[in-house]
Amino acid sequence: THPDLDLRAHIRGIPDFPKPGILFYDISTLLRHGPAWRAAMERLAARISPYKPDVLAGIESRGFLVAAPLALELGLGFVMLRKPRKLPGETIGLDYALEYGTDRIEMQADAVKPGQRVVLLDDLLATGGTMAAGIGLLRQAGAEVPAVAALIELAFLNGRARLDLPCETLLRYD
Ligand code: IMP
Repeated sequence: THPDLDLRAHIRGIPDFPKPGILFYDISTLLRHGPAWRAAMERLAARISPYKPDVLAGIESRGFLVAAPLALELGLGFVMLRKPRKLPGETIGLDYALEYGTDRIEMQADAVKPGQRVVLLDDLLATGGTMAAGIGLLRQAGAEVPAVAALIELAFLNGRARLDLPCETLLRYD
């Protein structure tokens, strides 16, 4: 539906967030607009279905807003990759480096079965560090990750160069 809808018109750039000098791409305006959100999900669904995922995974928090509706659209299950200590039961985790310091993501130990094809989603690919950590964690769990995807790619940061698999994105900013 809405083949002519310009998704770019529904993303705004907010200067100096979360700190001075950063231009933050805000998907809130897209999510607020029913036809734009639907068009984004349909276009992303068409891009990831060729990878034949068994399940979709999303990275907290905005990645959930992409992965969960897509999973419903494709008739697939949805797995959460979360910040530390948020998930109940047995978890596995992976620490990764940030510009300053480190961070960690976790998932439930039994969330994916070995050999399952999991496509990982987030709202935005910047340096690729978050996506690389998510891929690492899914592989640690034995998943096969045929591709990752995001709504937005900050192409000037060349995050996809850090990834050793296909990365599908709808909107690129230079
Ligand atoms: P990376 O690890 O440098 O690729 O950063 C990507 C992560 O940071 C994603 O989880 C995004 O949600 C978040 N992020 C970084 N920059 C932006 C932005 O401009 N808008 C929205 N999210 C961002």
